[in-house]
This record gives sequence, structure tokens and C-alpha cells, in this order.
Amino acid sequence: MHSLIVTLDGPAGSGKSTVARQLACHLGLRFLDTGAMYRGLAALCIDRGLETANQTQAVIHLARRCEFRFDWAQDPPRFHAVVDDHEIDLTDRLRDADTTRAVSDVAALGQVRLVMVAAQQQIGREHPWLVTEGRDQGSVVFPNAAAKFYLEASPAIRAKRRVAQLREAGKPANQEEILAAIIHRDHRDSTREDGPLICPPDAMRLDTSDMSLQEVVAFLEDQVRQQCGAALAQIHPPPSDAQRGRCG
Ligand code: C5P
Repeated sequence: MHSLIVTLDGPAGSGKSTVARQLACHLGLRFLDTGAMYRGLAALCIDRGLETANQTQAVIHLARRCEFRFDWAQDPPRFHAVVDDHEIDLTDRLRDADTTRAVSDVAALGQVRLVMVAAQQQIGREHPWLVTEGRDQGSVVFPNAAAKFYLEASPAIRAKRRVAQLREAGKPANQEEILAAIIHRDHRDSTREDGPLICPPDAMRLDTSDMSLQEVVAFLEDQVRQQCGAALAQIHPPPSDAQRGRCG
């Protein structure tokens, strides 16, 4: 079976989600936001009254009972969890402040990561034409991906971008608090034992601090077309200019 998996890893607020969604759209691939899976689990824990920092066994137990689904018919895709036959749409909880505060607790648990990595690899088997973004996509989840990128930007720029994103979504945002939270999350994500944030040795590293979103997407699209032209030629039907125009 033919496939094309492109991985985008990098720290919080490096613009990966928006870049990955637009890149996938331009190339005619699906977009997998693996942060949504960790965020979704964190939101579920909070909504069930679990303390993510202390009740680790209960968090692991819940992760094992969850199935995560992306509804790719919507743009951006909506995100659902199915727990004990109940389907819950978590899309609007993913970027809430309490979810963001709790997410690195759940992401640091090795047993949770095992569940998530297996679920992401399963999605990769079912949808093998994929741009996937996270922290460990090129290093752990899809080590044989056809193209790997690592996006970074200075913490101050990343905080500014996250503030703009939250305000656009009508959510409150304090730049200093967000910068402190980003630095804290970077530290936890890079120093955990399982699946730490690293730049895979075979990934291309791109500092996006001084680049616009459009420049980053155009650069990556160009790279993927150069590296994976033969695989891309197999996508049927390839996205039309009109479709590409709607990618944002
Ligand atoms: O990318 P995003 O900010 O949505 O990710 C939220 C958090 O989920 C990260 O800070 C990290 O703790 C965790 N995460 C992870 N591995 C991934 C994706 C996200 O540990 N592949």
C-alpha cells in the first residue's frame, strides 16, 4: 500500500497546528493534531474531577478506555472521545486554560504515551496520507516518515502567536502568563523520560521566528514536493487550484 507521512515536531506555540493544517490542505493530505489527543484526555480528566498531577493511575485507566476520533469532514476537524460508548465532542475544550495547564501532566505519563502512540500509529495505518504534528512524531511514532521537519521560534514570539490565536477564538489571554506557561511546558516536554521533545536527527530544522505563516507553509510545501514528488503524484485526485485557494 502506498503512503506518505510528513511529520512536524516542535515546541508549544511554534505554529505547528496551523502550518500542518494548511500544508496538508495544499498537498491533499489529512492532518493529524496529536496535541489534541493529549489535550482531550486532560480535559476529560478535569471534567470528571480527576487531579491530573496526583491521580495518575486513574488518568492511565481513563486513557486506556478512550477512543479518539477526528471528524475530517469538518474544517478544522472536530475532535471527539468515545468513553464507555458515550461520544463527547471535546473540540471547544482543547485550548481552555485549565486544559493547557493540565496537559503536560498527562503527557508525561509513560503508560498514557503508549496508548497515544498506538492510537496514532493506527490512524496512520487507516489514513496513510498524512501530515502529523506533535512532539514525538518523527522520533517515536513515525520513524520511517517520508519527510520530517522540526519547527522552532523564540519563546517570546511563540507567546505572542498563542495570545493572538486565543484572542481570535474569543478567549482571554495574558501575554506574560502565557510566556511563563510556554517556558514551563517546553521544559517539561523536553525533560520527560518517554517521548521527549527532540529534533529527530533526520529532520529538517526551521526557525520560524522571522517568517510569516504563509512563508512557512510555502517553504515546507516546496520541500515535500522536492523530497516526495513520486508519492505525491499518486494522490488522486490531486487538489485543484480552487481547493488550494481555500486552504488559507
Ligand atoms: O501541540 P499542543 O500545544 O497542542 O500540545 C499540547 C501538549 O501535549 C504538549 O505541551 C505536550 O505536553 C503534549 N504533546 C505530547 N506529544 C505530542 C503532542 C502533544 O507530549 N505528540
